Amino acid sequence: MCKIMIETFVPLYINNFCESYCHVCSLRVNNKDIIRKKGTIDEIVTQLKIIKDVDNIYAICFLSGEYKSKMRNENFLLILESIKKAFDLGFEKVFFNIGSLTNLEIEILYQNFSGKNLVLSLFQETYNKKLYEKWFGKNRQNNPKADFDFRLSTPLRWLERGFKSVDIGILLGISNIEDDIHNLMNHFKILIELNAEVYISLPRIRGVSNFYNSISDDSFEEIVKIIHQACNQAKIIITTRESIEMINRLLPYIHVVSPGTSDLLAYTQKGDITNKKETSQFYIQNERPRPSKVLNCLDIDNSLIKYYFINENTRN
Ligand code: SF4
Repeated sequence: MCKIMIETFVPLYINNFCESYCHVCSLRVNNKDIIRKKGTIDEIVTQLKIIKDVDNIYAICFLSGEYKSKMRNENFLLILESIKKAFDLGFEKVFFNIGSLTNLEIEILYQNFSGKNLVLSLFQETYNKKLYEKWFGKNRQNNPKADFDFRLSTPLRWLERGFKSVDIGILLGISNIEDDIHNLMNHFKILIELNAEVYISLPRIRGVSNFYNSISDDSFEEIVKIIHQACNQAKIIITTRESIEMINRLLPYIHVVSPGTSDLLAYTQKGDITNKKETSQFYIQNERPRPSKVLNCLDIDNSLIKYYFINENTRN
């Protein structure tokens, strides 16, 4: 059984519209098979209450697509309000993953949340600019995620403004792994030198395809170990893209387990949660265990999971 403390947070997709063209993602604007919906603030608050009161988890990550049109402003305001609600409800840590940020957006977030436990999640996906263009596009006029440099500069601008925490990452399988790990480590070093709290996310592409390299479980474990060793101040995040068995295998080398689903506003009062193909960012199976059920299946004592409070006595 793992004796090292880990953290947790739940991913909460607040809408599934997007104006980007990422080939690796079901939410890309040109995917006609997705049923699109925007969450309202009331729906988001209901989800937060379920995660806190039913699953007893007090850390959250808001996710949405990335926009250029007037939807960018609408989404930003909704994120702002959602973060406020989460802190008001007693959430102790809030991540958000909505794409690159302008200096003005960072400033507005700073005016509202400086001193709060707010984490910018923004994965570069690959540090190879040519491959980035291949997977995420290069037309910066109509594709918000296509701006490689703007994306890369966002975590640094976030920390320079005065925030303390960032979550960077690579999508394993879309480029040369050795190069990307090397560049990820360099990125990590730059950010950690600013005294930041740096999380590292390591999603991997699943399945078989002619277009990308599927990463085996053994290779994935090796990659996690290498990063764990080389970036020992980093907090490595693994989500339930990975099976519970795989997470348990990785527990000695990771610091955060994020249980949940990439389906839209999918948390329910009872039972399992959904991961429907027509509304999710990525599909694993129709029904998924709810977050608290995942945490209870980990090879670790519940009292060692930060932000998971089974009852008031275990809050610290
Ligand atoms: S990865 Fe993000 S920006 Fe790209 S299509 Fe998916 S939701 Fe949109």
